[in-house]
Amino acid sequence: MKAIFCALLLMTGVAAAQPRLAPAPVVDTVRLYVLDCGTLIYNRPESYGLAREEVADTNMSVPCFLVVHPKGILLFDTGLSDRLVGRPVYENVRGGYGQLKLNTLRGQLADIGVTPERITYLALSHSHYDHVGNANDYAGSTWLARKAEKDFMFAGSPRDVADYAALANARTQFVSGDHDVFGDGSVILKSTPGHTPGHQSLYVKLAHAGGVVITGDLYHYPEERTLNRMPPRELKTGTPASRAAIETFLQGSHSQLWIGHSTAFFRDARKSPAWYD
Ligand SMILES: [Zn+2]
Repeated sequence: MKAIFCALLLMTGVAAAQPRLAPAPVVDTVRLYVLDCGTLIYNRPESYGLAREEVADTNMSVPCFLVVHPKGILLFDTGLSDRLVGRPVYENVRGGYGQLKLNTLRGQLADIGVTPERITYLALSHSHYDHVGNANDYAGSTWLARKAEKDFMFAGSPRDVADYAALANARTQFVSGDHDVFGDGSVILKSTPGHTPGHQSLYVKLAHAGGVVITGDLYHYPEERTLNRMPPRELKTGTPASRAAIETFLQGSHSQLWIGHSTAFFRDARKSPAWYD
């Protein structure tokens, strides 16, 4: 039986079709990849303190980010679940948001030679489902977690916890305040609580592109920033202070702000397999 199966594999060419993994990126300076981790179809910007006519596009991009540093690799956010690829939006409406996913995070990483085993650190901006959809796949990395977020996320509903259950047993390094990931000031996790108790943003200092701050959900729509709005429920959280601190940091460090959920940002971004350095 086994022999017949092997013969069949050879005849159909399955055995020969094993894809070869691209070589892992080796860098002298920091590289930042922007990955397509899905789209949220949504039309109620009032939940973010904005009227419909104030927002250019109420849908949201869902990017993931990979930082390749000479000392290791950091994955920041894991996006919508890879299981959604090819499925219609009507099957996957969650909390009023339709989830659309065209390709897998795992496949996009493989295209640039990165497997889950090659990722040194996993960090999540926060634990909402559009940022943790594939977290279980990367639980073999060292998870850079904030205590307040871990407590918050594991107190959530079983459905939410299922998205990242494997992190409960991941090698975990708790971080606080500004955490310098590789010890040279080039990649810093910045504490920006409010949207969730342990929300964080990511600063990356690039040789050519300069400083970049990736917001997580400190902002969703660019109009929140230009019109000074925020989700009403966040007015009395840490969000106003976190935004003020990031704006001060942007000015002092001459950095740009990348609002991940902005479809205009994602449309114009240089996307993987290209990169910023
Ligand atoms: Zn989000």
